[in-house]
Amino acid sequence: MSRTAIISDIHSNYHALYAVMSDAFEQEHCTEVACLGDIVGYNAYPGTCVDYIRQLNCPVVKGNHDAEVVAPMYEKMNDMAREAMEWTVRQLTDEQLQWLARLQYQRIVRPTGTGANSFTIVHSTLDQPKAWNYIINANDAAGNFNKQFSQLCFHGHTHIPKIYHWDGRHAEEDYEAKHRLVMNGYAELQPIPGHKYFVNVGSVGQPRDNDPRACYAIFDSDANMVLMKRVPYDIAGAQHAILEAGLPSFLAERLERGC
Ligand code: ZN
Repeated sequence: MSRTAIISDIHSNYHALYAVMSDAFEQEHCTEVACLGDIVGYNAYPGTCVDYIRQLNCPVVKGNHDAEVVAPMYEKMNDMAREAMEWTVRQLTDEQLQWLARLQYQRIVRPTGTGANSFTIVHSTLDQPKAWNYIINANDAAGNFNKQFSQLCFHGHTHIPKIYHWDGRHAEEDYEAKHRLVMNGYAELQPIPGHKYFVNVGSVGQPRDNDPRACYAIFDSDANMVLMKRVPYDIAGAQHAILEAGLPSFLAERLERGC
């Protein structure tokens, strides 16, 4: 049996990462992990989160924050972003920065087990993975499907969980799955053979869909099923750490609003 936990946009929030990985390994019996990038930025534990992901020895792709921390463009940032970025860079060792610099932009992942379907991972989109475009509706998603050669592709970047579906002619958003995720805290997707899916797994460390709980996905390769799931975590602890570190208080406040 192979169940892969697919996590994205951790953003140095170790409280959220710990809660999600505990849920994945202990409740959901995941055996593998794939990470869609933005490990660092915004929150108070960049080094701890980098080390945690590294020791998993799992497939990881680069996010825009992972790219920026290696080569910061301070002149393009507002004061708050610059302050947070400078702080993050100071927390990371040269070795951790070099590891982030070496990450690829997209990868094919083959879960263990005979006959398991491989899937693709990318932080933003497959058509322009280095442009960091935001996919916010089905029109945006259509360009991705031209470059998607696996049935499933998982991405992040917007911090908003969504499922886009391609029937061979049109791209559409799966509003029913979105509704189930809001109402129940989880939503299952059974892919239709011949169709393709571009799945935004939401954010572990800084959700922005007005639900402050961490979000991630699970791919069960035996059942060929995707599960999207919300996980409560110690938000007060993460907020306290942000303020203790001297990072902007807005970064703490937004966690409890989930925006
Ligand atoms: Zn992000």
